[in-house]
Order: sequence, then C-alpha cells, then structure tokens
Amino acid sequence: MHKYGPHIFHTNAKEVFDYLGKFTEWRPYEHHVLASVDGQLVPIPINQNTINSLYGLNLSSAQVQDFFDSRAEKKDRIKTSEDVVVNAVGRELYEKFFKTYTRKQWDLDPSELDASVTARVPTRTNKDDRYFTDTYQAMPLYGYTNMFNKMLDHPNIKVMLGTDYKEIVNEVKYKKLIYTGPIDTYFDYCYGKLPYRSIDFKFETYDTGQYQATGTINYPMSQPYTRTTEFKHLTGQKHSKTTIVYEYPKAEGDPYYPIPRPENMDIYNKYKQLAATEPDVFFTGRLGTYKYYNMDQVVAQSLILFKKIMQLQSEFQDSNEYNIPILQH
Ligand code: UDP
Repeated sequence: MHKYGPHIFHTNAKEVFDYLGKFTEWRPYEHHVLASVDGQLVPIPINQNTINSLYGLNLSSAQVQDFFDSRAEKKDRIKTSEDVVVNAVGRELYEKFFKTYTRKQWDLDPSELDASVTARVPTRTNKDDRYFTDTYQAMPLYGYTNMFNKMLDHPNIKVMLGTDYKEIVNEVKYKKLIYTGPIDTYFDYCYGKLPYRSIDFKFETYDTGQYQATGTINYPMSQPYTRTTEFKHLTGQKHSKTTIVYEYPKAEGDPYYPIPRPENMDIYNKYKQLAATEPDVFFTGRLGTYKYYNMDQVVAQSLILFKKIMQLQSEFQDSNEYNIPILQH
C-alpha cells in the first residue's frame, strides 16, 4: 500500500530506469484507468473505446478524429488547462471528464491552471487504453520502501526521521546542502507562502478478492473524492481481501502538489533568485523547485544536479593548490 497515494512508475529515460534498477528488481505493470461518467465506466485518457461506449457508436479511429474535430473549439493560443481539452475535443467531453475533476483536485477552474496540468492526460483516437505510453512501465518488485532502504544502505548515509530541517539546521555542519523540502519554508516565507494541494487518503479493506476492474477508477463528477486505487493491481499480490484508497483533495496538510499557474510561478521565481545567492545549497524535487514533476523527472533532475555538484567540485579542486575535497563526509 502507498501511504502517500498511488505511485505508478513510468519513464522514457533509460538512464533513470537503469539507475533505479540498481536498487530494485521490477514488476512489469501498465496502469489502466476507467472514468465513471454517465453511469458507465469508460477508459481515460479519452480514446476510441471511450467515445464508442459513451455514445453507443462504432466509429473507426479516423471517424473518432472527425468526431473530435467537429466538436473542438480551436484556440489561437493554448494557455490554460481548459484550452487544452476544449481545443482538442470540445466542451461536452471537457465538462464530462475534466471540469469537475479538476475543480475537486485543485479547487480551481481549469481556466485558472496552466495548460501543462490537463496536458498530462492527452486524448487519443486509437484503442490504446493504457494510462501512460512510456517505454518503461514497471513497479519496484518488493515495493518503494525496499528500494529506498537499499538506496540508503551506505556507511556515509544517516537518516533522521521525524526531524524537521529547521530543528537541526544549526546543529549539523555541512559543506554542501541538498534541500528537498518546500523552498518557501527554507526561506521562512519571506516572499509569502507558495500554495500547495494536499490530499486525505482514506483506506478501506474489503472482504473480496478484487474490488474494481482496473488499478484506478476516476470520478470526474460530483463525488467528494477524485479517484479510487486498488493496490493489488499495482503489486500483483494474491489475497482473499483487498485494500482501496480514496483520495479527497484539500488545501491544508502535507504539501503534495505545487499548483501550476502564473501567479505562483512569479512567487517561485523570486525564491529561485534567492536560492542562486546560496552557492552551497542545492534545491531539487517537487517541493524544492516547485514543479509538478513525476517520480522519473525528479530522479532525472537529481542525477543532473549530482553531476553538476561533481563538476563544481572538480573545478574547485583544479583551482585549489591544496586540493581539499569539499564533499568530504
Ligand atoms: N484530470 C481530469 N480528469 C481525469 C484525469 C485527470 O480532469 O479523469 C486532470 C486533473 O486536473 C488532474 C490532471 O488532469 O489533476 C492530471 O492528472 P493525473 O492523473 O496526471 O494526476 P496525478 O496522478 O498527478 O494526481
């Protein structure tokens, strides 16, 4: 079970897949999602099967494209999350699949969010009903906890759980600091708080072998939750009971999602400028760089950062006649 919501790994980056593969074996897994719309369960991202089921049609792939074209409201500039969907498939499908779901998830209308948010779920005209199309799609065979335990199992790594960075910042000596917490917290909110979305995860265990047909079911209508995920689909576990998680989005609580919209980027950019004045502190991750990144993007970002730090270190050593290592532990 994923305590902090379903994490489904997918990437096109071989380097990222191989890097994590040093710490885990993989279980091949392709995620499928159905959306509960008009009393039916239909595939999301919207595809040929979605349209045929929803409207009782039997359209070919080319006819589905015509269907979309006849309804699409073409925009000159695609700026918002509403533009992305309405431009591709028109207002009716936008309202059925995206408008209410997005309002629940973000407490904003899609017209108030960057295009990148709904662009994560692009419409198709074929029958591919996988949620992701990446080259590598797999789950850590023994779970993420096991993978991270292996990653942290090193004599130079000490972990202090339940410890806020602010509690120990003055106790721990460092030459280089890599900070993955919220960047606004690091700078004591000097430019104001960056908004994040949080989620209440409600876990239910049912006395049945399988509860739902796919790993996740989305609820883009009026239910108070956005989706349910049944972990057994992700893990392949066999058991006579099954556990589901319901997601109830909320404003307060642990920060899970940066909120991509221009006014928030303006605040973040001020923090980013401040961060640039601290040469020995490096910010990475969803919270450290206020980016709605997937797991693989965070891994890629952090591998690049590591290379940058190594580069800085070697430049420093080259110019330092005493050759003092700065990443000494
Ligand atoms: N979305 C939606 N309806 C859906 C699926 C997604 O409106 O059925 C929108 C919604 O705004 C959501 C965003 O697309 O937050 C990205 O969806 P994704 O499944 O990638 O979200 P995550 O898994 O990161 O929560």
